[in-house]
Amino acid sequence: MDAVIEKKIAIGISACQFGGKVRYNGKGQDVTRLLGRERSDFIWHPLCPEVMAGMGVPRVPVSLRGGNGDDFWAGKAEVKSREGENLGEWMRSGCGACLDSLKRAGVKAFVFMEGSPSCGVYRTSLKNKRLGHPPGIFGSLLLREGFFLIPAADLQSPIRWWDWRRCRLAN
Ligand code: SF4
Repeated sequence: MDAVIEKKIAIGISACQFGGKVRYNGKGQDVTRLLGRERSDFIWHPLCPEVMAGMGVPRVPVSLRGGNGDDFWAGKAEVKSREGENLGEWMRSGCGACLDSLKRAGVKAFVFMEGSPSCGVYRTSLKNKRLGHPPGIFGSLLLREGFFLIPAADLQSPIRWWDWRRCRLAN
């Protein structure tokens, strides 16, 4: 028999996957609507590290140079706009503020947007077979802090989502 959720689970999510039109190009989608009534079993905490960093919408896309998100936090890689502006300080502040917010709310799971140099965990490029050099800057923090991580794309597959949900409830 299916497990019954008695208490709502707090769960973080990349804001651009919760309907927020906060991507660099002003786009976003709501993957949670695919959950139907189950959506209300959770308390959602949408956030965008790039917007929290002070970058607006639309904005010039950012990219990691010289390494991945882990390297960035170790001071060995840089994050720059396409125009070459160094956005390291901004991203440190934005990611730190997002992490503080999740911790304050007792959030332990996060639905992340794969392919982003910020929120990506296992890929940092959306271009076909280019997998980039993961994790992204915020993804690195989420991994380090031991968050239960769910790719946003998996909410589009009932079977995959059920599997994630079962694992989450077992933790
Ligand atoms: S992937 Fe993350 S940083 Fe990029 S728009 Fe979505 S929430 Fe913001």
